[in-house]
Amino acid sequence: GNSGMIVSFGEMLIDFVPTVSGVSLAEAPGFLNAPGGAPANVAIAITRLGGKSAFIGKLGDDEFGHMLAGILKKNGVIADGIMFDQGARTALAFVTLRADGEREFMFYRNPSADMLLKPDELNLQLIKSAKVFHYGSISLIVEPCRSAHMKAMQVAKDAGALLSYDPNLRLPLWPSPKEAREQIRSIWDKADLIKVSDVELEFLTGSDKIDDASAMSLWHPNLKLLLVTLGENGCKYYTKNFRGQVEGFRVNAVDTTGAGDSFVGALLCKIVDNQNLMEDEAKLREVLKYANACGAITTTKKGAIPALPCDSEVQALLKG
Ligand code: ADP
Repeated sequence: GNSGMIVSFGEMLIDFVPTVSGVSLAEAPGFLNAPGGAPANVAIAITRLGGKSAFIGKLGDDEFGHMLAGILKKNGVIADGIMFDQGARTALAFVTLRADGEREFMFYRNPSADMLLKPDELNLQLIKSAKVFHYGSISLIVEPCRSAHMKAMQVAKDAGALLSYDPNLRLPLWPSPKEAREQIRSIWDKADLIKVSDVELEFLTGSDKIDDASAMSLWHPNLKLLLVTLGENGCKYYTKNFRGQVEGFRVNAVDTTGAGDSFVGALLCKIVDNQNLMEDEAKLREVLKYANACGAITTTKKGAIPALPCDSEVQALLKG
């Protein structure tokens, strides 16, 4: 359709996951590659639902970087904002969910290309074309990438875009929990729309209570919509005028990777052509139901990108 442009800014990388489940990284007999990176997942979630999206980020000028750029293009994501660093290589992550329920990570980021994106390398024309500008990179805390984010946010905002932020907390990557909180809080008030998971809410507030009071402690005066995702229980929403919860869908979840990104992509798809959504609770609830359905479907298949649904799959789940 003729929908508005959503620009998603951040990293794309490759997750290597063990070929068998429940093992530590050291025990893995082999690995499968699963392209990901939350902002890239969001960009693809949008095109799969029929929306218009562009990805801005830096990859290594290596085999992995070109493979990832190819995946974005194949999925219809506008690739004019992709840069290739001539020195550093594409970020890689080794990730496993061990039998004891703990996630184990190992990252190649010393530094990877995504961390080296400079403010003067940004495709400003593309950023200015955004009706919605979404960010949530795990590299947002490191320079020069941090300055590039600040500039991109400002350019997008000045051009009239709605700013959407997902902190995508990956604690092993942060120097300390205290620094993570400070860094996230320091950019918090730039966003119009913020999505956190229940786990991130606990971390950011430092309290193990997931209630309205703890969510509202994250509120800032410029915020239009705060969302807290609750896994299979759907999500809570907070606006200036109303708050509530939209129940999730019961599905046979096999891998929750990408559920949050799918949820965000769906929401942005609907909000881009209806930026007054936050003022109409009935309409907002309808959109969040759609986003919950997208998140739910994403958990029914392995991996993030292969599991992102198209609109007809979502409609089928909504009809029951
Ligand atoms: P994140 O992936 O950021 O941790 P969540 O796990 O809360 O976020 O998932 C995002 C959304 O995906 C939820 O709000 C919900 O709509 C959907 N979802 C996630 N897990 C499940 C599940 N097990 N069953 C049904 N829906 C789910």
